[in-house]
Amino acid sequence: MKPIGPIPPGWEALDGVLSVDGAKLTDVAAEAGETPLFVYSRALLTQKFEDLRAAMPERLAIHYAMKANPFGPLLEHMNGLVDGFDIASGGELELALAAGVDPARISFAGPGKRDRELEAAIRQGVTLNCESEGEADRALAIADRLSKPLRIAIRVNPSFDLKGSGMKMGGGAKQFGIDEGRVPDLVRRLIEAGADWRGFHIYAGSQALKAEALIETQGQTIALAARLAEEAGANPPHVNLGGGFGIPYFPGDVALDTAAVGDALGDELANLPPSLADTHFAIELGRYLVGEAGVYLTRIVDRKESHGEIFLITDGGLHHQLAASGNFGTVIRRNYPVGIANRFDAPADEVQSVVGCLCTPLDRLSDSAMLPRADVGDLVAIFCAGAYGASASPANFLGQGPAREMLI
Ligand SMILES: *Cc1c(COP(=O)(O)O)cnc(C)c1O
Repeated sequence: MKPIGPIPPGWEALDGVLSVDGAKLTDVAAEAGETPLFVYSRALLTQKFEDLRAAMPERLAIHYAMKANPFGPLLEHMNGLVDGFDIASGGELELALAAGVDPARISFAGPGKRDRELEAAIRQGVTLNCESEGEADRALAIADRLSKPLRIAIRVNPSFDLKGSGMKMGGGAKQFGIDEGRVPDLVRRLIEAGADWRGFHIYAGSQALKAEALIETQGQTIALAARLAEEAGANPPHVNLGGGFGIPYFPGDVALDTAAVGDALGDELANLPPSLADTHFAIELGRYLVGEAGVYLTRIVDRKESHGEIFLITDGGLHHQLAASGNFGTVIRRNYPVGIANRFDAPADEVQSVVGCLCTPLDRLSDSAMLPRADVGDLVAIFCAGAYGASASPANFLGQGPAREMLI
């Protein structure tokens, strides 16, 4: 038997059925007409954001990193909550604009921005988070050719990283950002070239659950921004402190103490050096804002036994929920939170493995978990599906195609 991750808050049994915000997921699936299906809850998105807003200093802007979930209706909902959107491609720019996001609130990071993506962003007045000197030169030339102002911040490759983070994005040689030591020269060069220099973007990692790690990194980030400002002789209008707020996925994971992070950041912002006294600060979060607000529902098509192990074979799989299968940047496969939606409060009385319909042994959504005995026609719920699910999985693998998505 292998343990499962903790079921996120807000998902509960109603007449024995998994529900969210008063809606039974069996009814939602019936309304959708087919499985597999991603369901995202407006109520949970709003609650999560409001709790975070209350924990963070007022002066801090909260941005949504939309690569976590670019579903149109969800973007529209987030647009009513957050202060800004962080995008990482021209495709995301189009999706954000289609969702009604004001381009003045968008910043664009990501290595390998093509000229046409730079051009689209510059035409819209989006802030570029510039990843290299070469990209800065191309952006300057494009803005010049278009006779448009160039709003540009510098993404810094910090010499530290976020401790305990799931994915390291700073520290040492990286394809992201510009090494600290070369940043002051580029700041001066951008200002001399007449660009609207917007400040720094410093992102040190992702999926941290330890408040102390985030507090330490945010302190280092602010100190680095101050040092770079002094060396460049220019005060940054904006500093994006990155993100890295994690959510519990696996057995033993404990939710981040955002109150502790917010208090420490409040102290930092109350004691800024003169070079940052007038700076606007932001954080950018993906999974923290949306991950727990979504569930992936897939129906059991077959139940079989092999060498004493019970397999619940579903109509879904890793082509929609790659991360739950353990194949999206994890070293050791562990179980996401999982349940049987139509028997949600039934006693867990049988060890079963939930697998997908793909012809690969990688397609295992949960491994040897103790669940209510389930059978053909039952609905499996895989939680923490609001981030890096539908858009981060190989939907076309084996000709399966994408899952439905719904915001309720
Ligand atoms: C991926 C990414 C994020 C979002 O990461 P989460 O772990 O989902 O919060 C934020 N900023 C940058 C630069 C990223 O690449």
